[in-house]
Parts: sequence; C-alpha cells; structure tokens
Amino acid sequence: MKLATFLLPGADAPLAGEVRGDTVVAFDDGTTVLDRLASGDRTPATGAEHPLADVRLLAPVPRPRAIFGIGLNYAAHARETGKELPEQPIVFMKLPSSAAAPGDDVPCPAVVRRLDYEGELAVVMGSRGEVAGYAVADDVSARDLQKRELQWTRAKGFDNSCPYGPWITTADEVDDPHRLALRTWVNGELRQDSSTSDLIFGIPAIVSFLGETCTLEPGDLILTGTPSGVGQALDPPQFLESGDVVRIEIEALGAIEHRIA
Ligand code: MG
Repeated sequence: MKLATFLLPGADAPLAGEVRGDTVVAFDDGTTVLDRLASGDRTPATGAEHPLADVRLLAPVPRPRAIFGIGLNYAAHARETGKELPEQPIVFMKLPSSAAAPGDDVPCPAVVRRLDYEGELAVVMGSRGEVAGYAVADDVSARDLQKRELQWTRAKGFDNSCPYGPWITTADEVDDPHRLALRTWVNGELRQDSSTSDLIFGIPAIVSFLGETCTLEPGDLILTGTPSGVGQALDPPQFLESGDVVRIEIEALGAIEHRIA
C-alpha cells in the first residue's frame, strides 16, 4: 500500500489516502498516515478518488517525531569525502520541522553559500520497532556550515531541509530494500547512480543500533545515507543555486522533485 497525505485544490485541511496508479483514494474513516503506520491497518481505502495530478502531495507524516540521519553509509561516498569507513553507524538528527513536502520549493537559508543534495532511502518506522515502509528523501545539506561547525544540526536540520515522499510504500510491497536502484538528477543531469545494495550498514543493523538507546516510534524517519556523486565531491564542486531542480528516484518507491528557491 502507498500511503499519502495530500491537499485538494483550495482546501487547507490535509487528507490521507492510498495511491493507486495515478489516483489517490481517500481514507473515509478519518485516519491519518501516522494512524495507519501505528496500527498496521492495511485495509484498502474506500473514500473519494482524486487524480494525483489534481492534488498537492504533502510530507506523508507532516511532522515526524524524530528524523535520524546516518552519515557516510556508502563506501564510495565515504571515499569521495576523504573519510575512513565508519566502524559503527554515524548518527545525527534533523529537526522535525525540516520535514517538507516532496514537491515544494526548498528555501536556502541566507547564511548558506554551499547547498548540496543527498538522495537517500528513508526508512519509516511503525510500532514496536518494526519497519513500516520506505520513502525517497533528500538530506539537503549546507556544506559550509557542516564543515565549520562541530555539530550538524544547523547544516542539516534547517527548515524544509528534508523533503520526502512522494508517499510511504509499505514494507510488504518491497521485496528487498537492499536492492533498489537510487538516482539523483540536478536540472536533468544524472549525479548519483547507485543501489541500496551498497549500504555499509543495512536497515536491520541501523534500526537495532538506534534501538540500543532510544525507543523508535511510529512515523520516525531514518535517512540511511547517500551514495557518491554529491555536488561537493565534483571537480570542480557544484553547489545548488536558486532555480535548480533536484529529482531523486528510487526503484519501486517513486520520485520526489523540488526546486531550490
Ligand atoms: Mg545524508
């Protein structure tokens, strides 16, 4: 099942529903995507049907309780940044307020000069520490702040720095999350072309590592790391500029596309 949160034209109250092909079918029992993640209820939606083209998709869980990021989790990306391979997952947090709709513009904070993309597989948690589903995410990063500040909270947690979606594909629909093609384009130019088979720490290892110290809750997001090909590692480096369009696609999960404001 593909769980989406969306707005109808002119409406300001979000609806939740199930994406089927190029339509979204609303849940008519008033449940939200977060409710469905928590309950594990996969009863098909039976409400009104809307063409996807007519709705505005929002972040599936508009404000996740927690957004974990995993750093340097692809060997080729660790190498391109000149870092050693990590011996255990490198964990950082993005603020809940960084969650953004998959297609909305991403504003660049005025202080940031070196904005970069990171196409990533996002794991979405259900109840009792179970993986409920997966989505496509951009771990938008301010390389200048990341380099000069010891903690990455400002570099990676700023407002709208975590567009994700376009919906949550539930785990039962994904045969093997460690075998999905992941590609990122900037203005149509292919920048990242990899597979989740190259993850250093796989999803069970990451979930178990995080669970050693904190209880994972429904709707929590885990960004599993980005492959090689980020703008910072190009020669010469190419950072995002106003008007650039970033598209990230993961096999079986769909694509997100956002413009830098
Ligand atoms: Mg990242």
